Amino acid sequence: MENIICLQCLICGKQYRPAEVDYICPEHGDEGILDVQYDYDFIGRQISKEALLGSNDFSIWRYLPLLPIHPGATIPPLSVGWTPLYPSRRLARHLDLNALWIKDDGRQPTASFKDRASAVALVKAREKGAEIITTASTGNAAAALSGLCASMQQANVIFVPETAPQAKIAQLLVFGSRVFLVKGTYNDAFELCLKATRTYGWYNRNTGFNPYMTEGKKTAAYEICEQLGWKAPDRIFVSVGDGCIIGGLHKGLKDLFALKWIDKMPKLMGVQAAGSNYIYAAWKNKEDIITKPPINAQTVADSISAGLPRDRIKALAAVNETGGAFICVEDTDILEAIPELARATGVFAEPAGAAAYAGLVKAVDEQLVSGDDRIVVLNTGNGLKDIAGAMQAVAQVATKPFYVEPDIKALQQVVAGWDSL
Ligand SMILES: *Cc1c(COP(=O)(O)O)cnc(C)c1O
Ligand SMILES: [Zn+2]
Repeated sequence: MENIICLQCLICGKQYRPAEVDYICPEHGDEGILDVQYDYDFIGRQISKEALLGSNDFSIWRYLPLLPIHPGATIPPLSVGWTPLYPSRRLARHLDLNALWIKDDGRQPTASFKDRASAVALVKAREKGAEIITTASTGNAAAALSGLCASMQQANVIFVPETAPQAKIAQLLVFGSRVFLVKGTYNDAFELCLKATRTYGWYNRNTGFNPYMTEGKKTAAYEICEQLGWKAPDRIFVSVGDGCIIGGLHKGLKDLFALKWIDKMPKLMGVQAAGSNYIYAAWKNKEDIITKPPINAQTVADSISAGLPRDRIKALAAVNETGGAFICVEDTDILEAIPELARATGVFAEPAGAAAYAGLVKAVDEQLVSGDDRIVVLNTGNGLKDIAGAMQAVAQVATKPFYVEPDIKALQQVVAGWDSL
């Protein structure tokens, strides 16, 4: 690919040609994550803001010259990306902010942000002639891979913890993947999946391992900036598990800055759950992120439950290099955020998606943001992904349905007791 200079190791800085390495820098076990380095002069001759104005490709592929993909590659038919960016005056007023937008990646084909990465994985796997693609996942990356594989008749094997929400497991089974429900955590599933790739030679889509997943995820940063007329926001709030999404947003923003399409870098605000706060704690206490041992992760937001965040180097750099912050929220805050966000905007988020909004609420509370900041909150997953979580959330705010006999009198008795509609 003419647009790529090399793959560079985030630990030792060593550079590789794309064909030279499979996934990671061979010098550091599983931790040597590689970053794709681009030739921006070359890219600047292939794509421009003006040309994008005339593009009628409303998917991640509108940015093809910025992706690690051959121009002629076969791309999956499912429509991934170009999700809506909704302004919310109501929430802005509620939080004393001037400008707030919700980017809704619950609107992706398999209902989470992970479709952005899995779409790129499909193309890269095909490029290698892979017979089988595999991933470990808390659920959404798996569902994304599963759906995108179905769209291209691509065999795949999935590893998820047996505790994954039913809806996510249902997606995998409906799309026809071979599914392993691992009796253990996401971390256990990840290790088992890595062993399987080494044993069977399956193509490895794993987050924080395959260098191209960041490249798919960065498209959300392009969309946010383009949807705001290339006037970059001041801050972007996003929840963090492995750290691949926040690292991807950072990468996308760096690309745009290098191309001079935006004139400042937004501050990235990473939100972690208190029960899965590996990166938050390492950032706050200045711990060594490479050697820090795994923690015991447990949170209602299953998609950000990661005992050993695989993309923690990129996640930490995203916050430190943009002057952002990590924020830690309790499960009760996350659950509270689900109906609050939904009732103000109509966007129904799964717990990990709502966590980003909970992080904004906390940041406002702690005066980490200014009322003048232009703020984007990223909803990363659809609320229908986790009905148990949603029902817990409405129970927490004491919202109950009315059970009624199929009779107008019985109905009137209930309605008579209401103060207002
Ligand atoms: C995966 C995921 C996240 C976190 O992304 P990481 O790259 O693991 O930090 C957040 N929300 C949802 C809904 C997800 O599926
Ligand atoms: Zn290295």
